[in-house]
This record gives sequence, C-alpha cells and structure tokens, in this order.
Amino acid sequence: MNRIGNCSRCGKVFVRYRQQSLCPACTEKREQDFMRCRDYLRDNPETRMKELSEATGVSVREIIQFIIEGRLVLTKDNPNMFYHCESCGKRIRSGRLCSQCEKRLTDEVEKVVQKKHDRDSLHSNVRHKYRIYKPKN
Ligand SMILES: [Zn+2]
Ligand SMILES: [Zn+2]
Repeated sequence: MNRIGNCSRCGKVFVRYRQQSLCPACTEKREQDFMRCRDYLRDNPETRMKELSEATGVSVREIIQFIIEGRLVLTKDNPNMFYHCESCGKRIRSGRLCSQCEKRLTDEVEKVVQKKHDRDSLHSNVRHKYRIYKPKN
C-alpha cells in the first residue's frame, strides 16, 4: 500500500513505499553519505567517530544509524570507532544496546511473549473443548 508522507530529512511530501521515511532525493543523498563514510573508514581505519563525521560531512547520529542498520561494519581494525549504548551508555560498536542491555531486554520481551502465548493457548484450549463438547444437531 502506498501512502503519502513527509520526508523525515527534508520534509518534502512524497509517496512512501513500505516503511520508507526518506524521499527519493534524500535516499540518494544518504546513499552517497554512506559510501563516503565507508570509503573514509576503509582508507583511515583508525579514525575516530568525530573525525569521520568532519571528514565526510555526515553527522555522527547518521553514522551511528548506518552502523545500527548493519551497513557500516566496525572491525578490530577500527579500534577508535565506538558509540554509546542507548540504555546504559557503555561503549559499543554495533546495534543500539550493549550485550548486557540487549540480553536484559530480550529476556523481558520473551517474558511478555510467553505470557501472551500462555493466554493464547488457554483461549485455543477453550475453543477446542467447546468444539469437542458442542452437541451436534
Ligand atoms: Zn527528502
Ligand atoms: Zn547497555
């Protein structure tokens, strides 16, 4: 389903496909931003986040977004690249959260899913019984 939306970057109105939040022009520009970051990081593996941002003109926030999306991958060759866990502020190099916070959150989500699952299976049991014991006409 296509929907009209505002580009989250330039505010222009455009036809959105799926979860797309950028207009085609900004998508294109973002792609170029990404390639500049990737190339700079490749040529200067020991760069720091701030230096990378200044050299490419791409904001730190956007660089982190590339990393979170898994497009920009930090390796052991990039020892000075890191950012902070959104929950506890610890230094991380991939995803939004450090491994501890990730685990804590996953556990919490699992609990909720488990609860919902229990409730759902209770319901389906009830429906099941109802079907079995329902007198036939
Ligand atoms: Zn735009
Ligand atoms: Zn954390």
